[in-house]
Amino acid sequence: MKAKKSLGQNFLIDKNVINRIATSINAQPSDLIIEIGPGKGALTKILKEKKASLVCFEIDRDLKHYLDVLQDEKTKIIYDDILQVDLLKVVSQIQYNNLLIVGNLPYYITTAILKHLIDANLDINEMIFMVQDEVANRFTAQPQSRDYGSITLYLQYYFKVTKLFKVGKNCFNPIPKVESAIIKFEKRENLPGVDKQKYFRLVNDSFKMKRKTLKNNLKDYDFKIISRILKEFGLNDNVRAEELSEEVFIKLTKELM
Ligand code: SAM
Repeated sequence: MKAKKSLGQNFLIDKNVINRIATSINAQPSDLIIEIGPGKGALTKILKEKKASLVCFEIDRDLKHYLDVLQDEKTKIIYDDILQVDLLKVVSQIQYNNLLIVGNLPYYITTAILKHLIDANLDINEMIFMVQDEVANRFTAQPQSRDYGSITLYLQYYFKVTKLFKVGKNCFNPIPKVESAIIKFEKRENLPGVDKQKYFRLVNDSFKMKRKTLKNNLKDYDFKIISRILKEFGLNDNVRAEELSEEVFIKLTKELM
């Protein structure tokens, strides 16, 4: 079968990488694993060894030949677009302890998938994903780095996000144009106590034009209040959004509204 570029099909072929991913996943037989984009089943086979309930979503029915044989009483393959699936409905039909989500993601919809998972309100304990290395750097970035942006703060609001290891192009067939990395999302036990909508609006507005200062991006906000809070954190009025930690954004959200 010819891999479909339009569906982000780069199949993992390196046994060593597959095993490293397997050891990164902390699943017990009482848990539920959702796999996104099982492809030809490279990860699915090792996930099955965890003996947890496993539900895989694959958009491409042409892969049925590889995947149907992996189904059993604990493993289900659903041929559907993950972005169209009502995940809350799916998980509510299964009894489990912890929910883990895993996948070598189709890179063209990485962010859309993450937003879809977060919006589904699933109470996810852990996620392990293969993503483009550049994207991994953005998701795991810390303040003061050029990779730090609104998507970083959005994901880190819900999860502790860490990069586990890089994966070279030759570990896939066909060979992709970009380097990859495995990242881990761990549920934050206590989410920041702040109005989420207002917080994300402030964060998005702050990063609207990356080159501009915070002051220029936040023209519609009361800068006297912002200036006072920046000072409390030892920052001046000419800072850019990328210099502000989550703690500063949270304080700003609380004081501004
Ligand atoms: N897990 C396999 C592996 O590691 O070899 C395949 C990974 S490949 C990078 C991404 C997979 O996601 C492909 O099998 C592709 O068909 C599937 N896919 C693409 N878009 C999808 C979508 N919207 N919903 C579900 N699966 C999708």
